Amino acid sequence: MPVSGVAPYDEGNIFARILRGEIPARKVLEDDYALAFHDISPQAPVHVLVIPKGPYVSVADFSVKASAETVAGFWRAVAATAHKLGLEDGGFRVLTNCGHDAGQEVPHFHVHIFGGQPLGPMLARRH
Ligand code: AMP
Repeated sequence: MPVSGVAPYDEGNIFARILRGEIPARKVLEDDYALAFHDISPQAPVHVLVIPKGPYVSVADFSVKASAETVAGFWRAVAATAHKLGLEDGGFRVLTNCGHDAGQEVPHFHVHIFGGQPLGPMLARRH
């Protein structure tokens, strides 16, 4: 079920539990600012999530509350993850869902990295 992108942070969310080591994840990269791991239900040949280590609900929350160093460190980790996955030559897509209309399901800021094949239109066609 979609969640709010501006609600108070819920320490029990599934990505917080992954960060605490309570739930396993297939890690791709970890540094001081971020953890990258494979999505449990991939929607492309490569589908990896990158999350900051701090308690931010969404990109909106992260962009307001995180320090400049944390914001820079996070986005560098996103790029380093794409590099480690070998996606730069073929190309890749970075996407984040914020709140109800975007269908955000996990209330810990995360970006999706998709790649491994041509990814098609940016959004589903409206009919
Ligand atoms: P979003 O709809 O943007 O909030 O995306 C949440 C993503 O988290 C979905 O693509 C899920 O497949 C993924 N997901 C949920 N639980 C896990 C988990 N335990 N490990 C890895 N990915 C997960």
